Amino acid sequence: MKILFLDQSGKPGGAELCLLDIAKPYRHTSLIALFADGDFRNLLQKSHIPVQILTNQTIKTRKQSNLIQGLTSLTQIIPLITKLIPIAKKYDLIYANTQKALVVGTLTSFLSQRPLVYHLHDILCTTHFSKTNLTLAITLANRFASLVIANSQASQTAFIQAGGNPNLVQVVYNGFNSQKYQIPDNIVQQTKQELDIADKFVIGHFSRLAPWKGQHILIAALAKCPPQVTAILVGDALFGEHDYVQQLHQQVRELGLEHRVKFLGFRHDIPQLMTTCDIVTHTSTSPEPFGRVIVEAMLCGKTVIAAQAGGAMELVEHGKTGFLVTPENIEELAHTITQCYKHPENIIAIANQARTTASQRFDIKSINQQISQLLCQLK
Ligand code: UDP
Repeated sequence: MKILFLDQSGKPGGAELCLLDIAKPYRHTSLIALFADGDFRNLLQKSHIPVQILTNQTIKTRKQSNLIQGLTSLTQIIPLITKLIPIAKKYDLIYANTQKALVVGTLTSFLSQRPLVYHLHDILCTTHFSKTNLTLAITLANRFASLVIANSQASQTAFIQAGGNPNLVQVVYNGFNSQKYQIPDNIVQQTKQELDIADKFVIGHFSRLAPWKGQHILIAALAKCPPQVTAILVGDALFGEHDYVQQLHQQVRELGLEHRVKFLGFRHDIPQLMTTCDIVTHTSTSPEPFGRVIVEAMLCGKTVIAAQAGGAMELVEHGKTGFLVTPENIEELAHTITQCYKHPENIIAIANQARTTASQRFDIKSINQQISQLLCQLK
């Protein structure tokens, strides 16, 4: 099958990393067209997936944009579509992986007479999206998409609650190659030495730095944990949240945690870093649509403490494959971390169960098969 994948971002966020795995089996016949250049292009090229950057101008609308801002961006969108139509005619279907890709993909699909698939990686609600953007996404999906793939039941439910057609939407979780998360012990020890954390109890937090990802919650909780407990924060401000980064550094200074918190920036060696941790926390303050980092930590054989909302509740079974805590509840998070620190023997069984469950439920081969079957039905 020849697929034209569309994605608005040049940066490798969760939706893009998911797309990379979906597009791999189609790389000999398909193309990923991006609306921005960046590190994601390098990752695609490393995996030998054909990629084309369609424009050097960032489309200015944001998740919270209003109607006027949306209409202004039409001047950027129309040239994109003009460029895409002759390209689209060489492919069997258009696969929009993000919201702006849905807008561009809809018009391209209509004008090139190719079916449209929308992979929904968001919880479509007013916490993250303006009413205009929400209505636009639902209307376009209902009217023009042949299939909506939701990355969790939480995303599917929000789609339907916002007015999305329930007959269009199917849940397919992100897939992972579990072998990538098996790190030899000598590498783990070496990484621990390099990070100077060999004798510490280490909490890992792996997310882009953004207020709703809740790194501030972990820092506040850390101040209430025993002094041997330290944290590594992996990730960077991908979408301009530089004020938040400053706030986090200030919070660390004010709490006197400089020696217990390390900011490692954006990294490409996530499995290696995760394996050096004792536990991994996920502290999003709004419901997470899926939460790739949760599954990745489980595949690394780590106990995850995740905020009890959205997709995280479909990934972690409390007390069996990890722990779920009330979002933004600093006391509860600190207490759960401290219990893990004091009783490491209790988390070994949970971590082992997490690894087994995650490698069965999120195996990339079977996830890609599910997607392939859904796409074949569209032909
Ligand atoms: N990630 C990464 N390097 C970093 C931080 C995160 O490669 O420094 C990856 C992480 O391993 C995960 C993805 O980015 O695969 C984030 O996906 P998630 O679903 O957790 O959050 P999203 O970015 O989609 O909100």
